Amino acid sequence: MELITHNNMPIAVFPRFLETGLVSHGISTRAGGVSSGAWESLNLGFHRGDDRSNVMENFRRFTDALGVPLQNTVFSAQTHGTYLRRVYDSDKGKGIGPSDISQTDGLYTNEPGVALVTFCADCAPLLFFDPVKKVIAASHSGWRGTAAQIGRITVETLNNEFGCNPKDILAGVGPSIGPCCFETDAPVAGEFLKNPAWVPYVKGPYGADKYKVDLWRVNKQILEDAGLDPRHIDCEPVCTRCNENLFYSHRRDGGKRGSLAAIICLTA
Ligand SMILES: [Zn+2]
Repeated sequence: MELITHNNMPIAVFPRFLETGLVSHGISTRAGGVSSGAWESLNLGFHRGDDRSNVMENFRRFTDALGVPLQNTVFSAQTHGTYLRRVYDSDKGKGIGPSDISQTDGLYTNEPGVALVTFCADCAPLLFFDPVKKVIAASHSGWRGTAAQIGRITVETLNNEFGCNPKDILAGVGPSIGPCCFETDAPVAGEFLKNPAWVPYVKGPYGADKYKVDLWRVNKQILEDAGLDPRHIDCEPVCTRCNENLFYSHRRDGGKRGSLAAIICLTA
């Protein structure tokens, strides 16, 4: 990923996605919005205790920066599960307005103009784009979603429903908690240690039975095992917990924090 600046708003992007000229996308930072206090300043979460009017203005600014109409966004309540939902032109506006999409951690579509949104603040946003079949997806991969392989499930879903060849799919892992900061106890580490391919990405135990898990490397491994070309995987994110000036972090800030969002939309 790299950071670009649009109207004084830093946005994380995946250069391979930009090069196609076929999608608008980006992951927000906390800079460039109107919220204050713990939500300073570009909070995009409607259920974090921030004023709704502030969040709407922040959404307006972020979607403007991406060149995506605010009313075209679609999002859902996320539950750290692996349920994915296909969305259509008729779903535009759900989330900002009334929505029947719930308990969903991944959205996908082949319809231009439908802007998929996923929220995060340490969890990894995974964005997908198949420039051949012109299909996009956005998934939410926290440690639970990573252990449950939502990345693989997303690739398989695109393959089943649209005939996407995994070798054509571009993927990006966005800003999220890094191996520097994702410390956990034995039960969570055990979820990763039980997969032999992931053992190298778990360090520990240290001290009082603490471990560190490299969720970035696990997600990259999952995507490679799902058939993606390693050259098509952008997995060089920055750590949300280490970069307080740029990102919200659930680990660092606890419940009193804003939310970041990743958005992707087919432009043609
Ligand atoms: Zn860190």
